[in-house]
Amino acid sequence: MSSSIAPAAATPRQRITMPSTAKLSSSALAQAVTTIDGRPIVLCDIDGVKAKWLPGVIRLTQRIAAERGVPNPLTLEHPTWDMLTYDEDANEIIREAMCHPELYGSLEPEDGSVEALHTMQAEIGEVFLASTAMPSNPTAHSAKAEWVGRVYGTQWADRLILTADKTALRGVVLIDDKPEITGVMRPLWEHIVFHRRYNAETAGVRIHDWSEESLETIAATVERRLHELAG
Ligand SMILES: [Mg+2]
Repeated sequence: MSSSIAPAAATPRQRITMPSTAKLSSSALAQAVTTIDGRPIVLCDIDGVKAKWLPGVIRLTQRIAAERGVPNPLTLEHPTWDMLTYDEDANEIIREAMCHPELYGSLEPEDGSVEALHTMQAEIGEVFLASTAMPSNPTAHSAKAEWVGRVYGTQWADRLILTADKTALRGVVLIDDKPEITGVMRPLWEHIVFHRRYNAETAGVRIHDWSEESLETIAATVERRLHELAG
């Protein structure tokens, strides 16, 4: 799999002409809403998948804890996706870090994620970044858009979807580190688990990094899922 950058990555948002749903079988409808011009839609989380989220939060908890003269409550070995699992004083430090205006600007991209994003767009499908902005962080929405544009290129800010409910998104797969993705809809996408210690028990297809092997796994899962949607 080469790492060339697809021209499609730089094109403006495409408008989709949908055929009348009354004329489509359910399988054709499922395919129609999970593809763009025949290309499968690939949804990809940011925090903990594209961005080094936990190390970024820890840098801030270290600073806040030091200012208060207390031990840093959070480590890279934190065992659960939910970070607020300590006593109220410790949780308050973590909450403050997660709402800190410097948080998103300070996050580093996961190793290999920039090249992998362009490769996915070139060789696998139409990629959209799907992320949740915490309502308690007043600058989260704009900071995430700024981060995406700065790290991946401004055209990718146009492919950023911020939502509190990823089950409402259309796609063939969703690459995400959250152990269980819940919401009000029954999603068409299949969850590809981005490995973290807190999701080790989650069933399903799993990738550990943004290596060539991981991209092959994503491509194979997309292909299989498209066939399943076709019924
Ligand atoms: Mg995440």
